[in-house]
Amino acid sequence: MTSPQWLDSWSADDGAARVRTLFAEVFADGEPDGVWSAPGRVNLIGEHTDYNAGLALPVALPHRTYVALRSRADDVVRLASAQAPGETWQTRLADVAPGETQGWGAYVAGVAWALREAGHEIGGFDAVVDSCVPFGAGLSSSAALECAVAVALDAVHGLRLAADDAGRASLVTACVRAENEIAGAPTGGMDQAASLRCSAGHALLLDCRPGLSALESADRVPFDLTAAGLTLLVVDTRAEHALVDGQYAQRRAACERAAEILGVGSLREVAPDELDVALEKLAGSPGGDVLQRRVRHVVTEIARTSEFAELVRAGRITAVGPLMNASHTSLRDDYEVSARELDLVVEAALGAGALGARMTGGGFGGSAIALVRADDVDAVTTAVQAAFDDAGLVAPGFLLAPPSDPAA
Ligand code: ADP
Ligand code: MG
Repeated sequence: MTSPQWLDSWSADDGAARVRTLFAEVFADGEPDGVWSAPGRVNLIGEHTDYNAGLALPVALPHRTYVALRSRADDVVRLASAQAPGETWQTRLADVAPGETQGWGAYVAGVAWALREAGHEIGGFDAVVDSCVPFGAGLSSSAALECAVAVALDAVHGLRLAADDAGRASLVTACVRAENEIAGAPTGGMDQAASLRCSAGHALLLDCRPGLSALESADRVPFDLTAAGLTLLVVDTRAEHALVDGQYAQRRAACERAAEILGVGSLREVAPDELDVALEKLAGSPGGDVLQRRVRHVVTEIARTSEFAELVRAGRITAVGPLMNASHTSLRDDYEVSARELDLVVEAALGAGALGARMTGGGFGGSAIALVRADDVDAVTTAVQAAFDDAGLVAPGFLLAPPSDPAA
């Protein structure tokens, strides 16, 4: 059997040293103003609910994206990334606009653009990036990048938004605009909220209804895995996932169409006990069977997320497994966003004793999670690796995910 590949997180010192060294290599003339970093996230439950004004329950990963940044007197942005070796990315902030900005630098320059749009005075900058967040694995390397840049620009321009949760919520808005409007990826707001607003030892219960205050939109739920004798295992399947392709947008459009037919502002307004009536209403419309399944996923997933958070609050973490499994089944069969590799992780992990397992993130590849007794981590890891070997699949990557610190 192939031995399992562990994707370790870096210490803060190691991450900072890496970007300082890279900064010195790329920009031979001086030091950065500082180093900032932001975590990737993994969602415990509440998938494809954020854009339906629903609930999600992410935790911040110990894996982070590091940025060394120095502000400039003009409006030029120059960037380099260890994940895009040998290439520098350059623009003028005045040229950044929806549809005009290509490449990975759009995630960075987009944040500066969005902060300017929000009325802040943001100038140009030189920055380098390095990251131990797996790329394109459904663990939000894109949000980690945006949020690291957001706290960096916040600091060098003295905006003081990162100083409190309400300010962080406005940085979330800027990062979401950067990703949606400049990078062109139509994602909801969960990833950026997780990266900026999570806290160590907690899960973040996010209520994505528009117009809520910062206080109303997020609640930190103590999530002490160690005390419960549990480990959150993340498996990066390394199956290609591309959110910028049409699938994600199609799911969003289906939800909007269903809400319109049902006469509600969002699917959040459909209560679980009104689901049957709603499904009946959808039956007659074109593509009604597909809309029914999409709506059933969203409504039941929001209910599961709420139940999961209640169990955790009541100190019953070990009881959440069935909710995770039901979430996976719903995403696989009703929302149709799973993939063979994700199903395989879930099956193998449960077979080896995991309490619960599910795909996480947008789907079509990316990562799956398993909630595992600390003593069973080796057995579950070995079982997943063996299942991938038997299926002739590329070796997955394994991460441990204790709930970690937000962007700083
Ligand atoms: P995910 O967020 O799940 O990792 P996405 O497709 O949303 O996947 O985002 C991945 C994209 O974000 C990359 O293709 C790249 O454009 C950008 N990105 C993320 N991290 C970095 C990095 N460290 N350096 C350069 N680009 C990055
Ligand atoms: Mg992303």
